[in-house]
Amino acid sequence: MSKTPTAIVIGAGVAGLAAARQLRARGARVIVIESEPTVGGRVRTLVEQGCQIELGAEFLASFYTRTLALIDELGLRGDLRRIPSSSAILRDGRFHSLWPSARLALTALVGPRHKLALSYLLASLVRHSPLLDLAAFQKAHPIDDSSVSDYARAHLSEDLLEYVLQPPLSGIFYWTPERTSRALLMLVLRAGLSHPAGLQLFTLRQGLGQLSQAMAAGLDVRLGARVCAVERRPGGGFLARLEGGAQGLAADMVICATTASAVPGLMPWLGDERLAFFRGVRYSSTALLATGTCGRLPSDFYGLLFPRRESAFLASATIQAVKSDSAAPPGRDTLALHLSGPAMAGLRQCDDEALTGLMLAELRRLAPRYDPTARAVFQRLYRCPEALPEFDVGHFQRLQRLADGEHGPAGLAFAGDYLGGPFVEGAILSGEAAAVRAMRMK
Ligand SMILES: Cc1cc2nc3c(=O)[nH]c(=O)nc-3n(C[C@H](O)[C@H](O)[C@H](O)COP(=O)(O)OP(=O)(O)OC[C@H]3O[C@@H](n4cnc5c(N)ncnc54)[C@H](O)[C@@H]3O)c2cc1C
Repeated sequence: MSKTPTAIVIGAGVAGLAAARQLRARGARVIVIESEPTVGGRVRTLVEQGCQIELGAEFLASFYTRTLALIDELGLRGDLRRIPSSSAILRDGRFHSLWPSARLALTALVGPRHKLALSYLLASLVRHSPLLDLAAFQKAHPIDDSSVSDYARAHLSEDLLEYVLQPPLSGIFYWTPERTSRALLMLVLRAGLSHPAGLQLFTLRQGLGQLSQAMAAGLDVRLGARVCAVERRPGGGFLARLEGGAQGLAADMVICATTASAVPGLMPWLGDERLAFFRGVRYSSTALLATGTCGRLPSDFYGLLFPRRESAFLASATIQAVKSDSAAPPGRDTLALHLSGPAMAGLRQCDDEALTGLMLAELRRLAPRYDPTARAVFQRLYRCPEALPEFDVGHFQRLQRLADGEHGPAGLAFAGDYLGGPFVEGAILSGEAAAVRAMRMK
């Protein structure tokens, strides 16, 4: 009789949860170990005085094919909410909307000469489209040859770089165009532009944390338990040692679904080349200031993006009551303000009060209509030291080398957005792929 295979998944973010569900569907007995007291990692929703606060991911996009299918499988389709309003970019005191993308033709954000230059980008997207596969990021490695800023300066224009490309890179990922590979830009643009329904954004009735909660339902998840080391057992399989626990947990398979930076500490025996890969992944950082208000904030846009030419500090703001009718109680609202990646890196030592004061003063200077201070009923600051993994020049090449040389110990696989793509869809795809790989290698 063949015995039931056993697996340990380290990390209950969406990558780990997707892996665990996939392993269970394939007949394995799975334990998920999570160091935090709740599941979800960077997909978590807090509720403060009835207002939802997204601690990480805020929206799903229409090109998240696997995530949307999973939402169906989990019975959450009825809870999916389309975010009705668009986002806008600030220039010289005015917000300009670019969504739907047809508005680009009419916008005064950049002049006609710059809009024409965009045709070069569109032609490149068509030419490279066979390399642009959201389900296999490493396939884009042949165009991982320059940064977004070098590419834009060579083929587009400075205005397009600073007012069309940089604001979403900063406002959504907290990155800079200098440290982003043009391969990532092409992948995301193609996915966003080519979906039959056009680019639409979604959330869930109870916030995106509802997705993590539903994915975890029915799984054996041990919360508040940190894995401090993974050892290989002489006869095959693994032993996961828990912080403060004398006995480890043994299993045939391990899926490590932490951020990349945690891997070398857990498995120092991995070998120099693989350890160098994990050590080489860098993360952007940000701080989120959530302010609950009595009364609604202006509702013309859901998201506000602040180009670095306009603000050295702020990356973006979102107005939660615009996002979904369930994000805040009637007559209430929440403004979520994010610091830019470079600003956060420079202000890490600042205390919460100083950081809060600085963010609000900057908002008042840039967009006084959205200042929530006078109507504030609560204010919370959250720091995200590891917000999004950078897909800098070389990351796709390194992903390809990792995939080519994936001959680690049988039954061990890795999952996370740094492998599958810097968003919920990438994390989920990477988790499911890791489960399949671990079962195959076992
Ligand atoms: C501010 C912000 C905004 C974002 N906005 C969006 C958005 O709008 N749309 C979108 O699609 N994506 C967004 N993202 C990205 C998205 O949230 C992530 O890509 C995705 O959640 C990553 O999931 P993951 O499972 O790979 O990693 P994580 O969610 O980081 O999961 C890793 C888990 O491992 C646990 N862990 C680590 N070490 C150990 C250990 N030793 N033992 C046990 N457990 C451990 C951690 O506690 C964590 O729960 C955003 C992210 C941030 C931070």
